[in-house]
Amino acid sequence: MSIQSEIEWTDATWNPVRGCTKISPGCKHCYAETFAERFRGVKGHPYELGFDLRTVPSKLEEPLRWKKRKLIFVNSMSDLFHESVPDEYIQKVAEVMVAANWHTYQVLTKRSGRLRDLLASRLKFAGSHGHIWWGVSVEDQEYGLPRIEHLRQAGASIRFLSIEPLLEDLGTFDLSGIDWVIVGGESGPGARPMKKDWVLSIQRQCRRNHVAFFFKQWGGVQKSKHGRLLNGKTYDEMPIMPKPALMQA
Ligand code: SF4
Repeated sequence: MSIQSEIEWTDATWNPVRGCTKISPGCKHCYAETFAERFRGVKGHPYELGFDLRTVPSKLEEPLRWKKRKLIFVNSMSDLFHESVPDEYIQKVAEVMVAANWHTYQVLTKRSGRLRDLLASRLKFAGSHGHIWWGVSVEDQEYGLPRIEHLRQAGASIRFLSIEPLLEDLGTFDLSGIDWVIVGGESGPGARPMKKDWVLSIQRQCRRNHVAFFFKQWGGVQKSKHGRLLNGKTYDEMPIMPKPALMQA
């Protein structure tokens, strides 16, 4: 993937792991799988192996080489906490994030139990750094809400929720300990619809709990038709950005 990202809430992607397997309804139209499978069998292409999971050690030190400060989405093409990624490798990824501390990192997972457990053990050294944001995906009540509970239990200084694709009304849920919420609908072929009431309910709860709210998109089969205005406004709130650290030579 290129350094420049087209994801609305980040400006670079870093993929020291490639590939994943589906775990819950939010994965149904996984964009990473669609992209990766397009290149299966293309000799020499980074996704020659399609969406099969593998670590990419040659990518590990990439953020150390990026001298300009960036907001980096970690593993946009995988899930760092996938059961097939060894603990030692996840630790190496965390060590790079701690060392290249002029960037801000967004680590997003659906394997929230492992995130919690590792932040209590071999990743403890990384949890308290304000330039590393730890987040979970939430698509519905059954699979998504328990992940929020795991995240709250994790020793992280900045916690966020990526509520995308939002597939149903989440009802009232606990936002204590959460710093940032991103909401978005599904886009592309077969996109499942998202109702405005579901979004407004989350926005109200964010206001009440003083949680930054970012509305990404309505989505739909042709997402450009629907845009990202909510009641006529864009919502691009972010958690407080940490002060830039001195860049390393
Ligand atoms: S966890 Fe994420 S990357 Fe993995 S299959 Fe699901 S949507 Fe795709």
